[in-house]
Amino acid sequence: MKQRDFDVIVVGGGHAGCESALAAARVGAKTALVTLSASSIGVMSCNPAIGGLGKGHLVREIDALDGIMGRAADYAGIQFRLLNRKKGPAVQGPRAQADRRRYRSAVQDEVFNTQRLSVIVGEAVDLVMHGGKVVGVVLGDEQTIMAGAVVLTTGTFLRGVIHIGNESRPGGRVGEKPSVRMAERLQSYGLPIGRLKTGTPPRLDGRTIDWSELEMQAGDDIPSLFSFLSNRAEAKQVACGITYTNAATHEIVRKNLDKSAMYGGHIQGVGPRYCPSIEDKIVRFADKESHQVFLEPEGLDDPIVYPNGISTSLPADVQEEYVRTIKGLERVKITQSGYAIEYDYIDPRALMSTLELKDISGLFLAGQINGTTGYEEAAGQGIVAGLNAAASALGRGPVKFSRSSSYLGVMIDDLTTKGVTEPYRMFTSRAEFRLSLRADNADQRLTGFGREIGCVSEGRWSTFCGKMDRLNRAREQLQESSFTARQISRTGIELNAAAENRSGYDVLALSDADFSHLIALDPDLAEIDLPTQQQIKTEALYSNYINRQSREIAALQKDELALIPREISYAEISGLSTELRVKLEKWRPETIGQAANIDGMTPSALLLIRANLRRNAQVSVL
Ligand code: FAD
Repeated sequence: MKQRDFDVIVVGGGHAGCESALAAARVGAKTALVTLSASSIGVMSCNPAIGGLGKGHLVREIDALDGIMGRAADYAGIQFRLLNRKKGPAVQGPRAQADRRRYRSAVQDEVFNTQRLSVIVGEAVDLVMHGGKVVGVVLGDEQTIMAGAVVLTTGTFLRGVIHIGNESRPGGRVGEKPSVRMAERLQSYGLPIGRLKTGTPPRLDGRTIDWSELEMQAGDDIPSLFSFLSNRAEAKQVACGITYTNAATHEIVRKNLDKSAMYGGHIQGVGPRYCPSIEDKIVRFADKESHQVFLEPEGLDDPIVYPNGISTSLPADVQEEYVRTIKGLERVKITQSGYAIEYDYIDPRALMSTLELKDISGLFLAGQINGTTGYEEAAGQGIVAGLNAAASALGRGPVKFSRSSSYLGVMIDDLTTKGVTEPYRMFTSRAEFRLSLRADNADQRLTGFGREIGCVSEGRWSTFCGKMDRLNRAREQLQESSFTARQISRTGIELNAAAENRSGYDVLALSDADFSHLIALDPDLAEIDLPTQQQIKTEALYSNYINRQSREIAALQKDELALIPREISYAEISGLSTELRVKLEKWRPETIGQAANIDGMTPSALLLIRANLRRNAQVSVL
């Protein structure tokens, strides 16, 4: 067999591929990023925005592990908004609209300047197998590159078909060819493959929009940045326009539904429920008279505008007709028609929690190929697959993320145990421990772990340690202080005069207290810097709930981490229903926690499995 050229090969230069390759290189693996075109590395295929509810948490976690997405979004952000600002910090989501070119250039800059990482332009058309293990890839020019592990992050390219009205043509993204030979190879392994679809709106020439007619929305005065290393937004900040569809728009869409690729029966794949097309909106919410459309500039020096909320697969002439019924868009010029794309994905239940295929050793999958949608979900899986591919190639132990420590863990667990019935996207409601998995404490949850496994740089580590020193000192100062109920009441906080003395930390835990009350009690506390004050207030606010949640997490972890050996025989466990036995045999959960997530699993069946493991002394807790 030819010698190893690289430790890890990552196929694909999208959001999953870049994070994957960068993470593998950071932990010491000699890595190759193989992609169809160097200039499209880091391209945003659809909306020019990063973050949002649940997604913003993922970006902060990627950043805590020293990934690129957060830093690139801060460099490229032209409008920052904290979503759900009126709700508690646990469910707030940082979001930024990004200048596409700046985003791509920040990602490319990192990819081309990372040690141990090489970019190879070409199409990966086949995999090299040796002894049942993937040991390399074959490129379109028949060149073979060998490696210890391969990560596939081919996005929407596997047998991609683009649809506009009745017309369809092969394509991985507009203007790019699909990846067909790799899809056929994956199918030949008997992997569970399905079809999904997604869509994008037409792009508009901003110079032909009548902005004077529109409501404008500016970003936040103080931007919520993504990276724990960033101090300020670097690009000029701009406003977005807001407009609405109306009865005339809906009438045109309704009248032409049979010409829509999605409604005319040309597409079988299932689409993202939470990113519906304008056709979907008009059919599913028939009684709604209008839908909001955000007009988002694609960049500072770019006249193109992304109309968020009207993705479509109607014919080009119908798109023009309905778009021009919308206020401000009466004379708009469409620069690129909206389209739908249908593509192959692999059922993620075929993966282990390392994102390595259960049946094909050495092959890892990340991103849209696993049935997800969104840049952030792709990037999050990318980092997990990159770390694990490197660990496997370098002979190190697997890198696992649990549901109780990160949204990354929630996503991987959801995908690998429940699979997907539609493109999967992250929401805060998917995380049962969301009060402790906040965007503001992602570094406290993950940077130490990242440092242990070698993926966090010296610079980030020293910034993090400095922050933790300040936080710990301030926390101690507050916990050691003591104030009487009378003193506290005098600051304006309502408290029963007979109540016990409280520490400054306990005062902050009251929902109507903030640092100004504490400073009134002890002026020396004004020396605590503003970011530390904000962090401690958030922590204190949740402290009582979190103590309860910590106990729940400990109980769950005992179960979640109990390993089920691969060789377990479910047929020998009497009392298991045939349905559950078949599902367990098919998905082969690695832990009791994963078994619990299998559709239809019951507590009594879990008890039977646990009892069997114990009888065979096979329970081991990490
Ligand atoms: P991609 O970003 O697609 O990157 C795939 C990479 O793989 C590319 O660099 C490509 O060149 C490379 N590649 C593919 N095959 C090969 C091969 N054989 N050899 C070498 N390189 C290869 N997300 C949302 O959240 N909401 C939406 O509404 C939405 N709409 C979308 C609409 C469209 C039309 C498209 C195309 C995408 C949409 N997305 C949407 C999805 C979003 O773009 C993806 O979720 C995200 O980009 C996936 O990242 P990825 O890294 O998995 O794949």
